[in-house]
Amino acid sequence: MVRSDLVVVEDLKKYFPIRTGLFKAKGSFVHAVDGVSLIIKRGETFGLAGESGCGKSTFARLLLRLIEPTGGKVLFDEVDIFSLSKRELKKIRRRMGIVFQDPKSSLNPRMTIYNILKRPLEIHGLGSSKEEKLNMVLEILEKVGLGEEHLNRYPHELSGGQQQRVSIARAIITKPDFVALDEPTSALDISVQAQILNLLVKLQREFKLTYLFITHNLMVMQYVSDRVGIMYLGKVVEVLNTREELNMGRVYHPYTAFLMLSTPAVDIRERGRNKIIVPGEVPSPINPPSGCRFHPRCPFAKEECRRKEPPVTEIRKGHYVACHFPSVTEEKLTPYVEERMESIRKLWRGES
Ligand code: SF4
Repeated sequence: MVRSDLVVVEDLKKYFPIRTGLFKAKGSFVHAVDGVSLIIKRGETFGLAGESGCGKSTFARLLLRLIEPTGGKVLFDEVDIFSLSKRELKKIRRRMGIVFQDPKSSLNPRMTIYNILKRPLEIHGLGSSKEEKLNMVLEILEKVGLGEEHLNRYPHELSGGQQQRVSIARAIITKPDFVALDEPTSALDISVQAQILNLLVKLQREFKLTYLFITHNLMVMQYVSDRVGIMYLGKVVEVLNTREELNMGRVYHPYTAFLMLSTPAVDIRERGRNKIIVPGEVPSPINPPSGCRFHPRCPFAKEECRRKEPPVTEIRKGHYVACHFPSVTEEKLTPYVEERMESIRKLWRGES
């Protein structure tokens, strides 16, 4: 672990037992997170992308120890969070925050905004007097673009965007180092999404925050993240730098390539041209495929892929891929992804 690493994840696993339905008697498990290792560096935004149900949200909850793991380690600033007592965990939680996808269901409908924001201060013993707590709440409200007039309102009296601003305020009122953002804009209207993204970028600079940013939208990912991890069926299959690799289309895992070719761009003209989708359906996480989990959907799968799980290898500095044949993707798909990214960059620059 080096000083710049804030969160180090080693072989993290979470299997949920199935308690109802057909699989109950067999002692089956949903393999939500299945052996993930990665590092989130201090001050960066690490994006985590993948289709719904791939384990992204479970992964975020594990990092904050909101749920217990089946195996593996999470080191937060060199502290193994799963070895902590309740008291020690509470202390370190002050340095972590989380923002959920749906602000409506994550805010207590019976509490005023003031009480919602005061609660983390009470839990962590911050603010010595009532007045000081009120000032801290007012200060954070202002930082997220709300004001004193929102203090005594209830969540249902706010718009979706305002509710998400309250969720963000609640996550950062204790001045954490790390915030997990679990699809923070996907439940919001398109017009509000950009405002919330800009707010998150501004707050990151101001409070020197480290983000884990979860989304299924690679376009959002390109806008906010420094590095990106691509997750498939409980595993991270590729980790790459956003600016020099993802934005340039230099990807080496076929799943990443298909995701990029299938993600609609922000511009309607580009969207019309978008024909490619990730082939096939996501297999069940109850009984994941043998070897490489992507093999039933991968057009380049060979016998080895069915038998042997591909190891994660560093294909170039800081770029990791879990595929037996990355050169096949490089030859057959990467040129199309590069071409598409170039056309999207032109659209953004208003050149076509
Ligand atoms: Fe496809 Fe094989 Fe690579 Fe898996 S290991 S992504 S099946 S080529």
